[in-house]
Amino acid sequence: MFDTFAIASLPEADESLRSAVRDIIVRCAKGMPTDQRARSWQGFSAEFSRMLGAEGFLGLTLPEQYGGRDRGPFSRFVVVEELLCAGAPVAAHWMADRQSAPLILNYGTETQRQFYIPRICRGEALFCIGMSEPGAGSDLAGVRTRAERRDGGWLLNGQKIWTTHAVHSDYMIALVRTSGTSADRQGGLSQLIVDLKAPGVTVRPITDLTGDAHFSEVFFDNVELGEDALIGNEGEGWKQVTAELAFERSGPERIYSSVVLLDAWIRHVQSSRQIAARADVSPLVGRITAEFATLRAMSIACTARLAAGESPVLEASIVKDRGTSFEQLLPIVIGDDLAAHPDEAVSDELYRTLLYVTHIAPSFSLRGGTREILRGIIARGMGLR
Ligand SMILES: Cc1cc2nc3c(=O)[nH]c(=O)nc-3n(C[C@H](O)[C@H](O)[C@H](O)COP(=O)(O)OP(=O)(O)OC[C@H]3O[C@@H](n4cnc5c(N)ncnc54)[C@H](O)[C@@H]3O)c2cc1C
Repeated sequence: MFDTFAIASLPEADESLRSAVRDIIVRCAKGMPTDQRARSWQGFSAEFSRMLGAEGFLGLTLPEQYGGRDRGPFSRFVVVEELLCAGAPVAAHWMADRQSAPLILNYGTETQRQFYIPRICRGEALFCIGMSEPGAGSDLAGVRTRAERRDGGWLLNGQKIWTTHAVHSDYMIALVRTSGTSADRQGGLSQLIVDLKAPGVTVRPITDLTGDAHFSEVFFDNVELGEDALIGNEGEGWKQVTAELAFERSGPERIYSSVVLLDAWIRHVQSSRQIAARADVSPLVGRITAEFATLRAMSIACTARLAAGESPVLEASIVKDRGTSFEQLLPIVIGDDLAAHPDEAVSDELYRTLLYVTHIAPSFSLRGGTREILRGIIARGMGLR
């Protein structure tokens, strides 16, 4: 049933990237407190992203002719794994490097490729993803934001929500309705590149339950866009978005969100407990390690499918479902362990990290598609729906 999860290993040439990435992280993220590093996904540093671009660690999967490195998905796996394990701030280049550039490469015009992709590879063009709307999250076919054809371009009206880092971004790739009504479902949807500085665009930050404001509401009020805003063919947005979501769900990103906390807790146990007392947590650490290793192997198997030019939609959904459950388990078991040792001194930094990860963890299984939606995809892939 799961013969597509074939065990694969990371090629030596890609493994060898690790030390150079670690050097940059040390230079840039040195001295960052643990609770800041735990924000990695949300951590925004345009300077850090530009440094990664300058050192050749962005656009690893993209062709050299557009400023990429032509190295393929395994090298991206290694770099992403290093960045997330260290808690480096990845948000400034994250979505452009992972989704927007491959989308433009696959569906964009030659002019769009030459204009956007080299800037993405240098960490200079920041993108956000405009799929969700009030009333269209899991059910993206219900998108109502509409772009009407006008002489030489498009007139855009509507609203997006939960748009990560819209407030810092230069562009949004928006899924919009270009013909028909929401009753037409997937038909009539298209993807447009929206310049977020254009007149008529309003970005309003939303504060989440941790107190951070990493996502936003975005309003379009008679926004005029050129003809060249369209990516791919009009009316084929659904097909394009489905391929884009496979990029979003298939990486190691879906396993490592709590890893900075895990690392800090293990260091705490090593430094504050006598050897005999550490035996209490050994079975837990063993269980966590076994799950981590299995999920990592599954994610590498997905990466091997991407490297073979395939789109591992089903496998990526399984990794995301199991991976986010693992990420959500860690703050619970670590919190339980610390609570079971009330006489032990725990640093403020570890407490703040635990508090942050505990608060943000529910979002792990929402962003990029909810657990129920992924399980629907898995059931369909197994011929059950
Ligand atoms: C941290 C974070 C960052 C995000 N960033 C972005 C972003 O950058 N760009 C963007 O476009 N969106 C973003 N989102 C939005 C995210 O993709 C949506 O929240 C998600 O798709 C769910 O949509 P919804 O919130 O409208 O919930 P709904 O679709 O209303 O779902 C509510 C509940 O009903 C369940 N449900 C819905 N339909 C079904 C069904 N058919 N069968 C079974 N159960 C079902 C869902 O699983 C969920 O539990 C982000 C969300 C979070 C939490």
